[in-house]
Amino acid sequence: MVPSPAHLLVIGDELALSWKDGSESYLKLRDVRRLCPCAGCAGERDLFGRLAKPPQKPYTPASFEVVATTPIGGYAVQIFWKDGHNDGLYPWTKLKEWADNPPELPPLEVKTLLPTL
Ligand SMILES: [Zn+2]
Repeated sequence: MVPSPAHLLVIGDELALSWKDGSESYLKLRDVRRLCPCAGCAGERDLFGRLAKPPQKPYTPASFEVVATTPIGGYAVQIFWKDGHNDGLYPWTKLKEWADNPPELPPLEVKTLLPTL
């Protein structure tokens, strides 16, 4: 079953989710941004399974502030960050998973994994 929150709120520097089963999850906005699932942040796998990451723009304080959130099709939420980034669709299942089992965060400095020619 896909969890879907009854409420989603930005409180201070945290994303607060209250689920329909009555449980609540809190995620640091900084962590949520660093876990952005869009191709530009998380990278894309090519036909050979190699992960390619574009060079990442440095984060600014605005990178960790939320301007708006929009639910997408009942399974995800799109987060609009203050620095203009809004490509990431965060599935509810991922947000719950991250809150229950905090994942290892990607390094702040992302090196490209493309082979040098
Ligand atoms: Zn992104």
